[in-house]
Amino acid sequence: MEMKPQIIHEMPKRYPVDGTFELTVRCNLHCKMCLFRHADSENASIIKKELTTEQWISMADQAAEAGTISLLITGGEPMLRPDFCEIWEGIYKRGFLITLYTNGTLVNDKIMETLRKYPPHKIGITIYGASPGTYEKVCGDSKAYEKAVEGAHRLQTLPSRLEFRTTIIKDNYRDFDAVCQLVEKEFGREYRLIQTRMVTQSVRGACADVRTCRLDPKENVELAFHRGINIIKDFIGDSYDENNLHAVFQDSGEETALKPRLTLFGCDAGMKSYTISWDGQLLGCQMLGNFAQNAVKKGFQKAWEDFPGTVKLPELNETCQKCENQKLCNSCCASRYAETGDLGGCPEYVCQDTAVINRLLRRNER
Ligand code: SF4
Ligand code: SF4
Ligand code: SF4
Repeated sequence: MEMKPQIIHEMPKRYPVDGTFELTVRCNLHCKMCLFRHADSENASIIKKELTTEQWISMADQAAEAGTISLLITGGEPMLRPDFCEIWEGIYKRGFLITLYTNGTLVNDKIMETLRKYPPHKIGITIYGASPGTYEKVCGDSKAYEKAVEGAHRLQTLPSRLEFRTTIIKDNYRDFDAVCQLVEKEFGREYRLIQTRMVTQSVRGACADVRTCRLDPKENVELAFHRGINIIKDFIGDSYDENNLHAVFQDSGEETALKPRLTLFGCDAGMKSYTISWDGQLLGCQMLGNFAQNAVKKGFQKAWEDFPGTVKLPELNETCQKCENQKLCNSCCASRYAETGDLGGCPEYVCQDTAVINRLLRRNER
């Protein structure tokens, strides 16, 4: 159900400070859980609609004029574009704090030469397994394992900050510790793997049926606890108390997406951050196609201004209003929409996940 924006409050001024340029939704890999990649049969028509080199550079110029400071270049796989180097160079010259997300498998000499000349502030590399077999199962390409590791080694020679990211599904669940070890062994102990906590349904026409491959809520929460305990220990140091996890989670749950705030969607989307999609639409975030404005036709500034300045979020549905797990709930407008087709819908997968967390915390309270 498409929501119509309605005026509810005088909103604070919005500034497009943090941008994401989604250069393409195409990718050389075929990950089962990909949120953005369309079916290969659509590639020919996608290529025709993707912004050209000049359009991306012009978009960067306009975004810089409008106040964008940090910019994420992502995909799909951005290095799949034959003009990646030209786009990168043109965008880079505007002086953004620039981050690059890549699966690392397409790093070549030309790209390295360009990135050495114009190094990203940060590079996020996805690692989906610790063996060719796992890459075959998750990404449909066993050779991608070696290519990703080799690509990451090459990128590590740049002066950029590296970040390793992963998404865990049924096919690489057993590999999680091995992936952490791989990252430490290959690249150094200072790198901690960043894991996507919640794998929601694919969005904006992507083809993956995430429901069939994502972890069940219990596995998902167990993995989060397994991974999170050490992070919590690092954050709270001596006050970490294994017997009082409930307090830790209650404290961290004060600001939830369910509390209406003077923002459009309960987060930074459309307030200070935005995405320009592969076909030139200005979106609130990469996960949320609602209220898109055509940034090529209108120009960046006008598209930003026309992005609804006020969005009346739907009333919380009755289930959510009565939900005892609100404080722990990890849903947001995008996950609600991806899972239910309704910005105010009740995403069952997130509910089940939240219920498991609650049960674990209660058990811990006793
Ligand atoms: S590497 Fe990333 S963009 Fe490519 S298919 Fe996998 S999840 Fe999607
Ligand atoms: S856990 Fe489910 S029912 Fe509870 S607030 Fe979150 S989405 Fe709503
Ligand atoms: S994914 Fe959700 S929380 Fe994140 S920017 Fe989009 S709407 Fe906001």
